[in-house]
Amino acid sequence: MTNRQAAMKIVKRLRSNRYEALLAGGCVRDMLLKRRAHDFDVATDAKPADVTRLFKRTLKVGAKFGVVIVLLGNTQVEVATFRVEAGYADGRHPSAVKFATAKEDAARRDFTVNAMFYDPLEKKVIDYFGGQQDLRRKIIRTVGDPAERFAEDYLRMLRAVRFSTQLGFVIEPRTRDAICKGARNIVRISGERIAMELEGMLSNPNRAAGASLLVETGLAEAVFPGFAGSRAEFGSKVLSRLRRNVDFPLALAAFFAGCETAFALERCRILKLSRNQGRHLRFLLSERGKLLAEQMSLAQLKLILGKPYFWDLFGLQRAIQRAQVKSLAALIRLRRRIDELGDVELRPKPLLNGHELMRLGAAAGPQVGQLAEEMYIAQLEGVIGTKGQAERWVRHWLRKHKIRK
Ligand code: ATP
Ligand code: MG
Repeated sequence: MTNRQAAMKIVKRLRSNRYEALLAGGCVRDMLLKRRAHDFDVATDAKPADVTRLFKRTLKVGAKFGVVIVLLGNTQVEVATFRVEAGYADGRHPSAVKFATAKEDAARRDFTVNAMFYDPLEKKVIDYFGGQQDLRRKIIRTVGDPAERFAEDYLRMLRAVRFSTQLGFVIEPRTRDAICKGARNIVRISGERIAMELEGMLSNPNRAAGASLLVETGLAEAVFPGFAGSRAEFGSKVLSRLRRNVDFPLALAAFFAGCETAFALERCRILKLSRNQGRHLRFLLSERGKLLAEQMSLAQLKLILGKPYFWDLFGLQRAIQRAQVKSLAALIRLRRRIDELGDVELRPKPLLNGHELMRLGAAAGPQVGQLAEEMYIAQLEGVIGTKGQAERWVRHWLRKHKIRK
């Protein structure tokens, strides 16, 4: 059963029990845009206790905030009671919730395009704040006064930039203005949450536009003190020259390509990257320039070629050269030398490809990327050597990294 089918079943069950039940938020936006939605959320006037009574398997993790997770088949759906959030004491977590009407629930949501409901039985969009019009005009606009909405939750400033990047929308002028004015407050949000938003925008192919927005609004400088002006602008240029799909560390390295390695690593500490991501980023930043060396010995070449992130380094260097409108000759020569080596030992094919990883249960998107990377490292390190071993390793990894949102 897909997540969408599960959500539909839940809506029908709630409705046949005389509750209101609608699809809500991001999935409505994505359906209207004909984009693939990754999760379907249900909003209802049933209270958490009603929801847990109606469905056999539920998780009550967020029941206090009106959210119950319903497990159906092998998927899970968030079922949230219409609510308003009262008292944002810390600009992040609502300190209390109050159950409310659908309209009030829409009003607490961040952007008009995220504040719509869809009635899948009547096939009707319920749109209190002009979300459909903003979708057509490709605009990110807060529901209500932007300054107030950002003061309630500073994370929304980054979310605005992320949605603008992912959807290719512009941020409406008043909303954008409020971000510029409030940007310095972003550091009150935890580094992990900041990192998640940055990852969402910088791993998107439209990442250069996102990076420019971060710099122009002052969010970049608020998160990374001293990261502004021409070196930050250079970062956006390098980002625009990367290949389409890149991991977060490569995108970060490109963003900081105009900065010294020590400065960049120090600034990125706030993001609390994983050990592997940290290693990946450090490698890319500190090895920059080495691939341009006139005379690299065969041993040097083999050594660097054997590094798990070698092709990212190569891609980064190419993007830097192109951003500076400098010659690619050294990289082309290097590429030719590598092809002549024809070495399968140094960079064997990954034991499992992306499709195989997803078939084993990895979620499309960043998770597959991270898993593929870690599995490849295990392979290069000799921890796994056959497809069977790789599958066992992946299953273990997936158990350790259960998808949590
Ligand atoms: P994505 O496709 O990235 O998951 P989404 O719109 O589903 O986008 P979520 O973070 O999954 O975003 O949140 C689901 C919905 O909850 C949003 O569409 C929005 O209506 C509401 N929401 C989420 N975070 C906030 C927030 N910080 N402030 C206000 N509303 C929010
Ligand atoms: Mg979502």
